[in-house]
Amino acid sequence: MGTDQHAQFDAEEQKTILALVTAGEKPVCPRDETPMTKRSIGGGSFGLGYSRRREWLICPTCKRSLIFDLKRGTRN
Ligand SMILES: [Zn+2]
Repeated sequence: MGTDQHAQFDAEEQKTILALVTAGEKPVCPRDETPMTKRSIGGGSFGLGYSRRREWLICPTCKRSLIFDLKRGTRN
């Protein structure tokens, strides 16, 4: 513990971020309030029967990141 280069958000912080995303807000880092960079993982497999989208949120300031699945049905 301590100097972990692959620092992660703790469970509480993850919930905060996911709540923002779910609400359609722009996610910001709960530690430093930096707008987070969002990347999609798995590259455009719409229409191929892949029902999930995986997204990767990265804070450019503290370098913490969070990968999560967006389940189908949240929108539309
Ligand atoms: Zn941060």
